Amino acid sequence: MLKIKKEVVEQIKKQGEEGYPYEICGFLIGSIDYSNNTRTVLEAYQVENRNKERANDRFEIHPKDYLKVEDYAEKKGLMIVGIYHTHPDHPDRPSQTDLRFAQPDMSYIILSVKDGKADKWRSWELVGDRFEEEGVELI
Ligand SMILES: [Zn+2]
Repeated sequence: MLKIKKEVVEQIKKQGEEGYPYEICGFLIGSIDYSNNTRTVLEAYQVENRNKERANDRFEIHPKDYLKVEDYAEKKGLMIVGIYHTHPDHPDRPSQTDLRFAQPDMSYIILSVKDGKADKWRSWELVGDRFEEEGVELI
């Protein structure tokens, strides 16, 4: 499951609204408790969506950004525990493309942004070869 600070959720919503009608994306930073498979998110770190041709329905993260954020997290004694992105005018469900790039042991927050306003969001995790919604607790 996912535990996430309320402020971080608000931050992601704001970024999603500002980036509309394009997809925005970033990393969830925090810690993982493997004993009960719980990821705790303390920070959101937005990175550039490198997909310019289809930025309205695709996102792509550059490996350099991944390394940069990993380094940032490590210096704080934290780690990357997931990725968030928005679906402008689409539901908060993962797409086939999202599934293709998903990795295990990570949380994937998808926020739907409708007409420029942050709408519903959910967190997903890879279970086998498919996404399952995971429980969320605001902290
Ligand atoms: Zn997506």
